[in-house]
Amino acid sequence: MPDMLPGVARPTILVVEDEAPLLTLLRYNLEKQGFRVEEAADGQEALLRVAEAQPDLVLLDWMLPALSGLEVCRQLRRRPATRDLPIIMVTARTEDQDAVRALDTGADDYISKPFAMDGLLARIRALLRRSGSIATKGTLGWRDLTMDQDAHRVSRNGRSLHLGPTEYRLLEFFMQHPGRVFSREQLLDAVWGRDIHVEPRTVDVHIRRLRKAINGTGEEDVIRTVRSAGYALDVEAG
Ligand code: CA
Repeated sequence: MPDMLPGVARPTILVVEDEAPLLTLLRYNLEKQGFRVEEAADGQEALLRVAEAQPDLVLLDWMLPALSGLEVCRQLRRRPATRDLPIIMVTARTEDQDAVRALDTGADDYISKPFAMDGLLARIRALLRRSGSIATKGTLGWRDLTMDQDAHRVSRNGRSLHLGPTEYRLLEFFMQHPGRVFSREQLLDAVWGRDIHVEPRTVDVHIRRLRKAINGTGEEDVIRTVRSAGYALDVEAG
């Protein structure tokens, strides 16, 4: 699932494609990623569906019956309501000229057939992040630690760290509140969730793993144990 904004409906993607098998494949993959899918099989229908369904993004095939994708794009850009609607144009040929024309007409991005589904999904997510339809989490940094929350990558002093999912969430929480001391119970609530019953000692186990993963040889321990209080992302004073 992409990181949807809490309380916001799932983003809707209008797929405009006249090849039924490709349409089915796209619908399947987009729904699996948590998107709502609307479809149109030609250019005229695409314009109607945009007005009715108010999609968050249009995946627009270039070669369409009735009205070409290029013309649909042009018309959408002319209307105030859809001037900024994210559009990814799907071109059949890999010629650079097509890409240039697609972008000139106002498409935000383009992809050439045949395309890899992963690549398309990445472009869709990138565009939805830019338009604010899905949350951008961004990057957290503290001292020599960096966490790229969109790519789920963590590094210390430029060295990539490999964290388990729980250690990742623990570190993420600490990096959101550097210097603050949290009790085991507070960490359980924040990282494991209130509904899950876990022994407070489990926190110690994961803190140990986290330390092992982030503290390289000769590096300062950045997790401070505060006696009878808990833990903090911090270094010992002095
Ligand atoms: Ca087509």
